[in-house]
Amino acid sequence: MTRGVSPNHELQKARISAAMKGRVITWGDKITAATKGRPGKRLPIAERFWPKVARRGPDDCWEWQGAVDTTGYGVMSRPGGVGESRKVYAHRVSRELDAGPIPTGYDVMHRCDDRRCVNPRHLTVGIRLDNVRDMWSKGRAVTRHVTHCKHGHEFTPDNTYVAVTGRRQCRACARIRAAAHRASRAA
Ligand SMILES: [Zn+2]
Ligand SMILES: [Zn+2]
Repeated sequence: MTRGVSPNHELQKARISAAMKGRVITWGDKITAATKGRPGKRLPIAERFWPKVARRGPDDCWEWQGAVDTTGYGVMSRPGGVGESRKVYAHRVSRELDAGPIPTGYDVMHRCDDRRCVNPRHLTVGIRLDNVRDMWSKGRAVTRHVTHCKHGHEFTPDNTYVAVTGRRQCRACARIRAAAHRASRAA
């Protein structure tokens, strides 16, 4: 699917990604419907979220139909303070709606390759390796000498996440598992 691109659109996308850095949304955030012509009425975030999702089979990718930022992730807005609209990642919203609040310092990551996908089954919570280095320096990780996963993929920052259990996980392996699972469902 292609989207129309105008200079204004590019500017808008740049603003969105700048505004999103460090954003954390919380479970149960309310969205005012003022911008939808229903001043004063509040809509739960779920009621704004799901109409913008192309839901398919339980194991398919569910693509976000709303705005997408410069890096290809789906975004949506919610009011922040007075007169302030904040941007949040659609896949983070999906995870929170599905499983509750995301622990501080953790990221929501895709197990599939589709950054617009918001299927909760394709999302996982972990810590980016950058943040994990802090943990290591405090001596909490005992496996830091291991440089590759058991299938031989290197634990580079891009290829690594840390599950909520504290264990490092290989993204390449996660993708392979997801693809194999999809294939078995399709067979
Ligand atoms: Zn997906
Ligand atoms: Zn691996």
